[in-house]
Amino acid sequence: MEYLDLSPYAYTASPLPMTSVGWLGSEHGVQGGTGSPLTEAELRTLRAASRRVCNVMLGFHPCEFCEAVEGNGEYRYYLPGGRTFAAPAMIVHYAERHGYRPPREFLDGLPEAVRPAWDGRAESLREVLLDGAAGLEWRAEAAVDLAQWNDRRAFDALRQAVADAELADCAGDEIGRSLAAFAGRDYAAGLDRDGLPPSVRFGVADAARNDALTLVRRRG
Ligand SMILES: [Zn+2]
Repeated sequence: MEYLDLSPYAYTASPLPMTSVGWLGSEHGVQGGTGSPLTEAELRTLRAASRRVCNVMLGFHPCEFCEAVEGNGEYRYYLPGGRTFAAPAMIVHYAERHGYRPPREFLDGLPEAVRPAWDGRAESLREVLLDGAAGLEWRAEAAVDLAQWNDRRAFDALRQAVADAELADCAGDEIGRSLAAFAGRDYAAGLDRDGLPPSVRFGVADAARNDALTLVRRRG
């Protein structure tokens, strides 16, 4: 899928309005040109803000410039001021390998998107997650993205969501990965891992495994 940078996100229905960034393809090429690639520091910020993909069921999409496939799904960036950006997982590849420079308004807000402050978007995602009448795909996405907020309200909502058997069946692993993101916080200390449903436990363990792998890679 190819969309112009800063166009309204329209790939799938979504509970929050979002702006497209990094949906590159052969029709428009590397949008903005390749004359000023990101600096190392800017790349580090982009990687730090590109944490967990959601919407992974959408399938793999190879790079239209070099055929590489580096992950599928989407990243969501909650910038200060209420603007939310959605990018394909390949955005990091485009920046690293093809000199892609995302628009300035995206780059400027990225450092603060690494740890967004609780706001109306977080509140909306919390409501979607806990709304038994909402679609399971939206609820699964909310479970992924709520972990971006380092806030007790996100943790409590995820804990509450565990009790929803239908949701745990379809997105238990994502809920588990999100719960694991709060490890070390005082309010998360009482989490009874052994009492979690198996799919949620799997997600918690999987997150720990990935963290260990990342550490090994950084040391290696
Ligand atoms: Zn490529």
